[in-house]
Amino acid sequence: MSAFDDLYAANAEFARDFADSGLTGRAARGLGVVTCMDSRIDPLGLLGLKPGDAKILRNAGARVTDDVLRTLVLAVYVLGVERVLVMPHTDCGMTKVTDADVHKLTADRGVDTRSLDFHTVPDQHEALRHDLTRIRTSPFLPQGMPVAGAIYDVHSGRLSPIDF
Ligand code: ZN
Repeated sequence: MSAFDDLYAANAEFARDFADSGLTGRAARGLGVVTCMDSRIDPLGLLGLKPGDAKILRNAGARVTDDVLRTLVLAVYVLGVERVLVMPHTDCGMTKVTDADVHKLTADRGVDTRSLDFHTVPDQHEALRHDLTRIRTSPFLPQGMPVAGAIYDVHSGRLSPIDF
């Protein structure tokens, strides 16, 4: 028994009926989505997408970190992404703690995380404005590429576009 047996068993079922879609690794609908790791978010389902349509980049808080920018550069120039939606969500755990809180929580368990920046979100609109600006002003991404922000409501399933 391993901690992953349930997953391997489920995959065996999945693979039994699997048919190769013939898709390549390019984003068929030219879309990149930056969203949170929150387990309530189904990015494909809520946006009417299917596998193959979009590049989905997920992390804690849907933050545009250096690694998200690196990935977007690859997504745009190598994998067909032509537009980017940044999609944080309501009830996000990252809005409920500060970096100091996290350092304290880990310190209580004997772990020093002070060298990590968790990019916690004291103000979600401000964080989204910052992150959209980071993409729009990146010297590595095409000027004028459509970049939008929208907050997903995990309770209603609705997406609210936020204009900045
Ligand atoms: Zn979240």
